[in-house]
Order: sequence, then C-alpha cells, then structure tokens
Amino acid sequence: MPKKYTVHGLENVWYVRHESGRRASEIFDTRREAQDDCDRLEKEAHEQTHKPRKCMCCGMRFVSEGIHNRLCVDCRRRPSMGSFELHAN
Ligand SMILES: [Zn+2]
Repeated sequence: MPKKYTVHGLENVWYVRHESGRRASEIFDTRREAQDDCDRLEKEAHEQTHKPRKCMCCGMRFVSEGIHNRLCVDCRRRPSMGSFELHAN
C-alpha cells in the first residue's frame, strides 16, 4: 500500500509531508520525531479510510473499502437496489 505521508528534512529541520505536497506536521529537530509523527498520521489516515460506515441502502454498518464505497456487500450484489452507485463497477 502506498504511503500518504513521508518524512522530509535536512540536518535539524524535519517535517512530514502529505502526498499532496503540503506540510502535515510541525517542524521537528530530529528525523526520529518526524518519523513518529509520520507513522501516527499514516495510521490515522488508514483508520479514517477503513472505519465502519453505514450502508446507504439498508443502514447496516460495514467496513468500507474507501470513501467511494457506501453500500454494504449484500446491497452491492442486489442489482435492483442502489444501482446509481453500481455504475462505477
Ligand atoms: Zn446494505
């Protein structure tokens, strides 16, 4: 899985950069501190992506594969329901 956050820096100026190019952390004195923060941000991003969501169709909670995934497995299998979401598949 590609990392969203990477550590950048030189000497005693270290920071975490998001894949978009923006700085995602404060400035750290050591690479180790920046790396710790990087790991934390990466973990948060992962949890954000994989947290349980409510199915838009039946309301059941399920673990989403991503922000685009708003229907549970059962509803996605059902051709007649939630078809407006299925065109992506
Ligand atoms: Zn459902």
